[in-house]
Amino acid sequence: MVDRRAFFKKLIPSKEESSPLYLRPPYFNDLNTFEKECINCEEKSCAFACPEKIIVIEAKGTPILNFNKSGCTFCQECAIACKKNVLTIENEKAINAVFLINKDKCMAHNKSICFSCKEPCIEDAILFEGLFNPIIDINRCNACGFCYNRCPSNAIEFIIKEAE
Ligand code: SF4
Ligand code: SF4
Ligand code: SF4
Repeated sequence: MVDRRAFFKKLIPSKEESSPLYLRPPYFNDLNTFEKECINCEEKSCAFACPEKIIVIEAKGTPILNFNKSGCTFCQECAIACKKNVLTIENEKAINAVFLINKDKCMAHNKSICFSCKEPCIEDAILFEGLFNPIIDINRCNACGFCYNRCPSNAIEFIIKEAE
């Protein structure tokens, strides 16, 4: 059983944190290598390889994920394309985020019937109490992001995890 208090405490960035936290593509070993290697990567081949077009290059030149239109299928294409070993298929297929449902915004937490987030979740990580009160099971959710753009009330949110 995950100790939820300890788990979320670990996710809160420290006050000394100087650079912003970014949502990174999967298959990384060390979050710090994005800043070290990607800025000088001329090809940015991870972004071109992604069939879902969810990898975008931010202003400094490092890849970040954008779930506004789609999610990650963990197809490995970004890792295969990366020649600097920032992403490799040997690494766990993790995305550095924890997803949750904002109960104030969620219609199913406010007496309306809505299952929009449940259908795209192939991990079956969104658990309802009957017709209402959905929560995301953090032990099942793989942070793929497919539920994110499906919520009509923008109630799906995520917390970005900092480097270990
Ligand atoms: S291909 Fe690899 S090194 Fe280049 S931007 Fe993408 S993750 Fe970084
Ligand atoms: S695993 Fe596939 S879908 Fe996911 S970010 Fe990489 S290329 Fe895109
Ligand atoms: S981010 Fe989590 S809850 Fe949302 S679709 Fe993916 S696995 Fe399911």
